[in-house]
Amino acid sequence: MSWLGDFDDDEDEFDESDFRVRPNPKANRPRTKRRPAHEDATIGRVLGVDRGRYSVLLDEDTNDERTVTATRARELRKSPIVTNDRARVVGDRTGDTGTLARIVGIVERTSLLRRSADDTDQVERVIVANADQMLIVVAAADPEPRERLVDRYLVAALDAGVRPLLVVTKTDLADPTDFLRHFETLADLRVFRSARGEVPLDEIGAALVGHATVFVGHSGVGKSTLINALVPSAGRATGHVNDVTGRGRHTSSSTVELRFHGAEGTGWVIDTPGVRSFGLGHVDTANILAAFTDLAEIAEDCPRGCTHLPDAPDCALNEAEAEGELGPAGSARLDSLQRLLATFES
Ligand code: GDP
Ligand code: ZN
Repeated sequence: MSWLGDFDDDEDEFDESDFRVRPNPKANRPRTKRRPAHEDATIGRVLGVDRGRYSVLLDEDTNDERTVTATRARELRKSPIVTNDRARVVGDRTGDTGTLARIVGIVERTSLLRRSADDTDQVERVIVANADQMLIVVAAADPEPRERLVDRYLVAALDAGVRPLLVVTKTDLADPTDFLRHFETLADLRVFRSARGEVPLDEIGAALVGHATVFVGHSGVGKSTLINALVPSAGRATGHVNDVTGRGRHTSSSTVELRFHGAEGTGWVIDTPGVRSFGLGHVDTANILAAFTDLAEIAEDCPRGCTHLPDAPDCALNEAEAEGELGPAGSARLDSLQRLLATFES
């Protein structure tokens, strides 16, 4: 076996090229059964990051399940490791107090959400890996719901290949029916209505089982209240938060991952406090279009690089619309699609 033998199974890792493998002088010696076991990495779920130390859950859902604290190998210095990554861990994996394991690789991600650059940070940063659902929390009132904001979340989710879900909170304060009309054409979008004292925990919980769901929403919409109701041990700080002083928040602003225990199983809730929006800098029109299967079929006749916006020349969608071929429902869906496409084209 070559000296690369220990890394044979790294082929599916995106960071393989970053991994500097040093020749091992002992490699040509016959292998003995006493070869140290730590060469074989264990794959675990990264639950959180705090000052360069990662909490990694190993042997998930087994009797040996435990959380270890890990540092990352020097080779990975330039690769961000984020919440819900699957990390390859070596070293002391007992999880005993004072022990430290080491992350030597990240398994290829199935999805990736980036935080937008904003006033406090000029760079888009990767914040959540491998989420397969995004639960968008919006309030029926206080703060007033804004359609464009939800659109931006939807675009970020669709682009990342993450299924969006929508929860409207505070329906005791206002009727969200008019607001929700904007999203009627998104047939696959599940919508939950929640009121004080009438939170549909069973329905939302059932949708979380078997998934890693990232919760998003602007400050004050009731996201923390909802997370505390779903995950009683979460202890997310609630109440009015002063955006300037940050007073009212007792928890840190880092992303956390919590386990949801439902009647039918478990799921993962990922909270991203302080993240106002997701980066739309990398959005691919095709990923948004793909969510509208009927329209995507028609758009196959579009010129290459077509934006599908209302002013796009020779756009097959606009032409079908002009000829009345889409029907009222199709036209409404085209409106929705173009609204979403416009959120990042502009
Ligand atoms: P977050 O900033 O999105 O995490 O919002 P919080 O969970 O801290 O909630 C903001 C405020 O809205 C708190 O005072 C909550 O008690 C209140 N709130 C949350 N959900 C509801 C709801 O369904 N109805 C009403 N009337 N108030 C709610
Ligand atoms: Zn087009």
